[in-house]
Formats: sequence, structure tokens, C-alpha cells
Amino acid sequence: MNISELLARNARKFPDKTAIIDGETELSYAEVDRAVNRLASSLERLGIRRGDKVALYMPNTTEFVFAYFAVLRLGSVVVPINVRLTAAEVQYILGHSEAKMLIAHDLVHQALTSLVGGSDVIWIKTGSAEGGWLSLAELIDSGDPREIVCPAKEDDEATILYTSGTTGRPKGVLFTHRNIITVADMIVIETKIDRQSRLLHLMPLSHSAPLHLFFVGGTYVGATHVLAPAFSPDALLGLVERHKITHFFGAPVAYLLTAKHPRFEDYDLSSVCCWMYGGGPLSREEVRFIASRFGARRMMCLYGLTEAGPNGTYLAPEEHAEKAGSVGKYAALHCEVAIVDEQGNEVAPGEVGEIVLRGESVMKGYYKDEEKTNEAIKNGWLYTGDLARRDEDGYIWIIDRKKDVIISGGVNIYPKEVEDVLRTHPAIADVAVIGVPHPEWGETAKAFVVLNEPLEPLAEECKRFLSDKLAGYKIPRLYEAIAELPRNATGKVLKQVLRARETAAQA
Ligand code: ATP
Repeated sequence: MNISELLARNARKFPDKTAIIDGETELSYAEVDRAVNRLASSLERLGIRRGDKVALYMPNTTEFVFAYFAVLRLGSVVVPINVRLTAAEVQYILGHSEAKMLIAHDLVHQALTSLVGGSDVIWIKTGSAEGGWLSLAELIDSGDPREIVCPAKEDDEATILYTSGTTGRPKGVLFTHRNIITVADMIVIETKIDRQSRLLHLMPLSHSAPLHLFFVGGTYVGATHVLAPAFSPDALLGLVERHKITHFFGAPVAYLLTAKHPRFEDYDLSSVCCWMYGGGPLSREEVRFIASRFGARRMMCLYGLTEAGPNGTYLAPEEHAEKAGSVGKYAALHCEVAIVDEQGNEVAPGEVGEIVLRGESVMKGYYKDEEKTNEAIKNGWLYTGDLARRDEDGYIWIIDRKKDVIISGGVNIYPKEVEDVLRTHPAIADVAVIGVPHPEWGETAKAFVVLNEPLEPLAEECKRFLSDKLAGYKIPRLYEAIAELPRNATGKVLKQVLRARETAAQA
């Protein structure tokens, strides 16, 4: 079994079943499979061999699907890159992954113009050939339609996903076919995706949850994929209604923005049986808010991280009434979870420890980085860097990421707890709390706040607001208003940018 075979098998079993809807284009499994064979034969003619790395710089489009499966069909390794990354970031990934080829979409290829021709990489884009780029359409048209049997075995490498870098330089997370198919198997069972399901893909397929969970998951059972190149609340609401979507996966911010859409009530969203959210934290109040809009009985929280496939834990729809804000009690299928102390021993309920995960979806390792791999995976457990505690009923509540904890005067301050409270202030649109050096206490907390109305004097107002909600030691001493928080391509706050800015200001 390998990922390419999932597609080929569907094409043999139900050739006419709709695989993809992309704008006005609708393609069956057989049509996708034929294009994949043609493209794979052309890529082979260009010199791509088993194990070679091919980067994709494409939004969610039909051509992404062709390229993804064509690379895998040759037993080669896909390196999907978020199209919001800049030429310099792409250059780093191309160099680190030793990619032999990059396939870009016409919608975004111009961002990479400065790189074309500067290395041995073969450059391909959708649309016409020009300025050092070969044409993907011509390669498909000129390809050999004969079936290519993918040589990959389950433990062969399939994909390298570069982490978004909220914890530093992007790391290449290497997955085998088995890792990815395990995640696909998990999601279709846990969220009841089947051949009748219609999945809406608005989150970038360059990331682990949209790609492995949702896209490969849907392909695993022969579901219909509805693709759209970029997220917007209008796209989400409009496409769900138009295509009678049954399953959607989105980052927290996608739900928060859509829930506030002024015409939310006008759309018919009744076809959806599962709204999955995850990939970043949401406070209990925020979960309650989105559940009140989308329907608590259809909400499913997924917790995981790229390195885990992503696999991890989930909070099922029926658990939302009581436990909104928790990431669930049990690990998902094919995964185990524990919360451990520094020595790797499970902590008692109520105590804070690090989440560790184990199972077949955990990455093979960081590409070309044995040291970091050995730091991340110990005794078969993946150390997530997420701190959490279980409540009296065994439910897991994420406290914060370990690297973000502020140690002030010997006590721990968890920024997420402070941020969640500050965010409930009517004048505060967004906030990030970091630790800054302090001569006596080691570190002290500083809040960067994005205001949606004036709040003066800022520090006094914030401290007064927090005084009856948080213990005194948790209340940040320093505050700064900021126009917007620095975020990565998936919308996560880049705290290291705020820390660097603070260091520069002190110097
Ligand atoms: P990097 O690894 O470079 O820091 P990243 O943060 O974008 O990049 P991801 O693997 O996308 O990496 O994010 C995984 C992290 O997101 C988890 O470790 C956890 O901190 C957070 N997360 C994921 N799902 C949830 C959830 N349901 N609730 C709270 N936090 C979550």
C-alpha cells in the first residue's frame, strides 16, 4: 500500500465518481488518475527518479492534486511549500531538501522569479512556458497515458513538510507512506468520512492536517474534494452551501472570522455533519462562541502537531457541552497520549506536564537532523513541547507551549492564560504575552496588545482589568500597543519576532 495506489485503486473501482471540484472544473477519479500517469511519465522523462525530492508551490487547485500524485507515483518525495512563503524562505527549503524540481502555480509563480535559473532545479509552472519555466499543461498533454505502478513501499519516504517556524528555523518533517495512511485511516473512522462525503479544502494543502488528515483521508475512501485557492469567510459559507459540504477542517481563526460574518444566518449550512477545528489554541469562551454559531453537536476539536502526522487527541461533538476548550480525554485511533514530567513519568491528575504521543503516524524524523530527532522522540514517544494537565474527569487542557513559559522570580507564568483573559476586554482585539529580561526576577511578562479602540493609560487599564481575574504574579508589568501581531503563514503568532524586537529595543 502507498498513497499513489489509493488514487489508482479508486479510479479502477469507481472511475466516474467525482474526485475534484475546483471552480467550474469537475473531474472524476479516472480523469485525475489519467492526468497523473501522463504527468508522472513526463517528470520521469525530465529525470525525476524514486527518492528524488520535488517541491510544490501551489495553492489548493486541481494542478496541485495532479502534481502531488504524479510525484508520489514515481516513488519520489513531495515537498509542499506554503505559497505565502517568500523567495528567500523557499530557497532555504529547496536547498535543505535538495529538491530537483519545483512546480508552481501561475497564480503565485511570480514570487519566485528571482530564483529561476539560479540553480540546477527544474522549474515548472501551470499555464504557458516562459522565462525559464516549463509548462505543466504541456507536460501533461505530452505524457504517456499508460499506467505507472508506484514502486513505493509503506516505509518509503513520501513527504517532507517544513514546519512553519514558530519555534525557529523551519525543520523538515519527514513522513513515510505508512505514517500518512495511518492518519488518513484515523480521520475517516473518527469523523465518519466515506465515499458520499464532500470535503471542503480551504486550508493550505502544504500543511499536515489539511494534506494528510483531510485530503489523503478523503482520497482513502473516495470522497469528493472541493478545492478553493484561499480562505475567506465568504468562500467558506458560499462553498458549503453550494456544494452541500459534509466535512470541513479549519484553523481556529477561520472559525472565529466566519462566525462574525454579518450574513452568517443567511447561509444554509445544514449539510455539514462535522466541523473540525484545531492546529492552534482556542479559549473556552471562543469555543463556546463558535459552537453557538456552527452547532455544538457538529464540532470536533483535533489536537496534534506536524511531527505527529498530525495525530493526537480529540474532543468529540457530544463532549462540547461540558468540556469546551479541552482537547479531549483519549488519543485518537492509532495513537496513545500521556502527560509526563521531566523524567518521563506520567504526572498525577491536575499536575502540569508535557504531552507525549506515540503511534504509527509519528514522523520518521527531522530530515537531515538526527540530533533534533533524538531530542523529539525518546523511548518511542514524541515530545510535543505542549504543557497540559488533566482535570478530575481525565480531560486534557493545554496550558501553553513549553518554550513560551515565563519564569518570573522562580514561578511559572503561562502566557496563554493571561492572553485568554486580556482578549475578553472589549477594547482589545488581539494580544501576545512574552517574557522579557528583568534584573531581579530573571524575566517579567510583557503584553503586546492590538487595540480596536483607544485604551488609556494602557498599562493601568489592563492591570485594573486583570486584577480580580488573575493572581498578582501573573499580571504583566509591561504593556505596549502594536498595530498588528507578527504571524506566520498559517496565522500563528511569531513570539520570537516580538522577543527579538524587545532585545533590539533594550540594546
Ligand atoms: P513550529 O513547529 O515551527 O513551531 P507550528 O507551531 O505551526 O510550527 P504545528 O505542528 O502546525 O507547528 O502546530 C502544532 C501546535 O499547535 C501544537 O504543538 C500545539 O501547541 C498547537 N495546537 C494544535 N492543535 C491544538 C488544539 N486543538 N488546541 C490547542 N493547541 C493546539
